Amino acid sequence: DLTNPELANEAELAFEGALRPRSLGEFVGQARVRGQLQLLLTAAQMQQRTPDHILLAGPPGLGKTTLAMIVAHEGGRPLRMSSGPAIQHAGDLAAILSSLVPGEVLFIDEIHRMARSAEEMLYLAMEDFRIDIMVGKGAGATSVPLDLAPFTLVGATTRSGLLPNPLRDRFGFTAHLEFYGEDELREVLGRAARMLGLDVDGEALAEIAGRCRGTPRIANRLLRRVRDYALVHGGRADLDAVRAALELYDVDELGLDRLDRAVIEAILTRFGGGPVGLNTLAVSVGEEAETIESVVEPFLVRIGLLTRTPRGRVASPEAWRHLGLRSPASGLP
Ligand code: ATP
Repeated sequence: DLTNPELANEAELAFEGALRPRSLGEFVGQARVRGQLQLLLTAAQMQQRTPDHILLAGPPGLGKTTLAMIVAHEGGRPLRMSSGPAIQHAGDLAAILSSLVPGEVLFIDEIHRMARSAEEMLYLAMEDFRIDIMVGKGAGATSVPLDLAPFTLVGATTRSGLLPNPLRDRFGFTAHLEFYGEDELREVLGRAARMLGLDVDGEALAEIAGRCRGTPRIANRLLRRVRDYALVHGGRADLDAVRAALELYDVDELGLDRLDRAVIEAILTRFGGGPVGLNTLAVSVGEEAETIESVVEPFLVRIGLLTRTPRGRVASPEAWRHLGLRSPASGLP
């Protein structure tokens, strides 16, 4: 899906790799987070120690992996990449931790999906650079302490609320990534176009910037489809090409895709505009509750089409307007 901010496949991974900023200076937007990271990295460098552990929180596609790479790169440190779903036993984590070299940056994506037993091992590792390894089973089991090389953990999560407090507390710093503004997205796109050797005019870039859900990953992906469109139709990558390409892929003027619209439409037509509970909503559009909550909702909330209330999700008057439906509350016949 073109506007799903989650990573699609290997080809996209390679494409993203080529466009990834390599330093904080090249990283567009997120000025606050950049300033915070810069301070943390510089202080560590001055004291010749490994930087504090860093938690990166925010919706997918906003640059968490990129920032983890930059943390390693800026400090000239090696980087090890793993992810929560890949760590299903404490042993998986022990194997990674015990093989880290001094100063290494360990990136754990989707850290909220790590196994519980591994989480507990991580507490001690983060705090004291030490783990206890259990040897043997039952009454004869003993725990053997193992010293680790000092490392910096960079955790990424789309759901910082799901992290247990003891884990969250062990990060020296939590960076909250925000959706990007249109000016920043134009800059991301302009940079990508230059790197791809693509001739796109300013109007076209602005149009893509307005339709990519505040997300650089989606911006780059839409740019790629517009490039294809211009190539196939033998024209320039101009405003017309953007409009035609995005219509073909079902991305509307606000950047909503079929799932976004399905969610809004369900709230409006099946639940009278809400409130409706997350799980009921998920079932009615045939999608996982987690996807609705971490991918669809943050953007709908941000552009004011949806609000979360204690009683459930409620569509705003703008949502009725955007779908061209009449709100019963509008009082019109
Ligand atoms: P996920 O959690 O889904 O893996 P993510 O938040 O880690 O997503 P990244 O993989 O870091 O997202 O970023 C996706 C792509 O978007 C990168 O390849 C990069 O090209 C681009 N990108 C992200 N942030 C920026 C930025 N600030 N400036 C320029 N390009 C960016």
